[in-house]
Amino acid sequence: MQKIQNYINGELIDPTSSEYIDNYNPAKGEVYSLIPDSTEEDVELAISAAKSAFRSWSETPKEIRSDYLLKISQKIEERLEEFALAESIDNGKPLSLARKVDIPRAAKNFRFYSSAIVHFESESHYMELGAINYTLRKAIGVTACISPWNLPLYLFSWKIAPAIAAGNCVVAKPSEITPMTAYLLSKVCIEVGLPKGVLNIVHGYGHKVGNALSESNDVPVISFTGGTKTGETIARIAAPKFKKLSLELGGKNPCIIFDDADYDKVLDTTVRSAFANQGQICLCSSRIFVQDKMYEKFKRDFVHRVKALKVGNPNENGTDQGALVSKSHMEKVLGYIDLAKEEGGTVLCGGKQVDLSEQGLNGWFVEPTLIEGLSYDCRTNQEEIFGPVATITPFKTEEEVLMYANSTEYGLAATLWTSNLSRAHRMANELHSGIVWINCWLLRDLRTPFGGVKNSGVGREGGFEALRFFTEPKNVCIQY
Ligand code: NDP
Repeated sequence: MQKIQNYINGELIDPTSSEYIDNYNPAKGEVYSLIPDSTEEDVELAISAAKSAFRSWSETPKEIRSDYLLKISQKIEERLEEFALAESIDNGKPLSLARKVDIPRAAKNFRFYSSAIVHFESESHYMELGAINYTLRKAIGVTACISPWNLPLYLFSWKIAPAIAAGNCVVAKPSEITPMTAYLLSKVCIEVGLPKGVLNIVHGYGHKVGNALSESNDVPVISFTGGTKTGETIARIAAPKFKKLSLELGGKNPCIIFDDADYDKVLDTTVRSAFANQGQICLCSSRIFVQDKMYEKFKRDFVHRVKALKVGNPNENGTDQGALVSKSHMEKVLGYIDLAKEEGGTVLCGGKQVDLSEQGLNGWFVEPTLIEGLSYDCRTNQEEIFGPVATITPFKTEEEVLMYANSTEYGLAATLWTSNLSRAHRMANELHSGIVWINCWLLRDLRTPFGGVKNSGVGREGGFEALRFFTEPKNVCIQY
């Protein structure tokens, strides 16, 4: 069986413990490879390699750092099929989605920061008293990048690319549930000759590898994407050590549809925004609010469209919904469907596990599920489910739906559908959310700030925001 290796100091190596964790194919429900069960010792090796590489890498001209990123991007593009297949097998997502979204975006992340770093400027402030200030933006040191399983390479590269572009050296930990494309990335880094120690990838559990990284006094920066609870754990460790921290956490995103919305577009997009990647995108719309005049028609047509989604083999053309990432995650999602029923909800479609064992797929498939009849403040409408489950609720007025939308502890992404321009701006201003999409969803310009408010996170990724995060400003004042 294939054994994944850690990537430390430019080499692929086995974990010091020689212990491995089973890696499952979620569609088949079978172990298909082994992941290093790395320990603090492996993390120390990686940190030490990153520390040794830091001075040279941070002093490498940015044009040369940029070239490495571009080469990594090109290699990923060249090997698109291999990466996409690996992502689909590892995560359970449709191959078509990995091919169209995950892998192209991972390549784009490297390409984008290859360009961004050469255009990144620092400030200068002139004083009439006869002095000038200039701000140096310096790389910080060893950076921890910890990422989740839902968009494995996409989110992993979204952190690594700006961190190394800015001149830091990275110790990265992908989710232990989806390590395969991070492993392929380490091979690409070797192929392009990335200097040793600049990027190190340590596989293994969060409570071991992630915890050792968060604890280490040699890691002054942590960039984390994952659940709010884990973010809290990391923040508790990092705060007394005054580490620089970026946290991209959970969401419970509202999709607000007014009667005057473009009907066909809203219908098409909401099927995607609620159920893409089996609902396992932090930006997915999980609470759909529809204005009363359109409600019944929208509900009927939406249910029809959701029922038509094909749950099936992720590798087959025509599959819309693949497997959920793990058995325990599937059980959590099904548990929430039971909770919704206990809370008085009516399941309009879906609601059950899908048995595909006749096709040799003994994995973790769940029907896309839509639930109505729940109050806005019940647990189903307040807690993150992170699966193919959405609720639908009617509303009458702007004030009412704003109250519903803003009622959760989260504030990541809101989607708003209306043709009334004034209302669109008014609502965008009032929504408690780091991102507002109006008449679209997941339309991404990588220059824009990305992140959430309230329990959805601290700080922003994307564009120059990320380069600012991964550098420390130092003001120099000269009087002349
Ligand atoms: P987790 O928080 O469980 O894990 C995220 C990463 O943190 C994994 O690599 C995990 O390792 C690691 N980890 C776990 N425990 C610790 C620890 N004590 N110290 C350091 N690292 C640790 O999230 P999931 O992987 O389950 O991802 C789903 C969550 O991610 C959802 O809540 C979703 O909303 C959020 N998310 C947020 C996004 C955003 O941009 N705001 C984007 C995408 C997802 P291991 O796998 O071993 O547990």
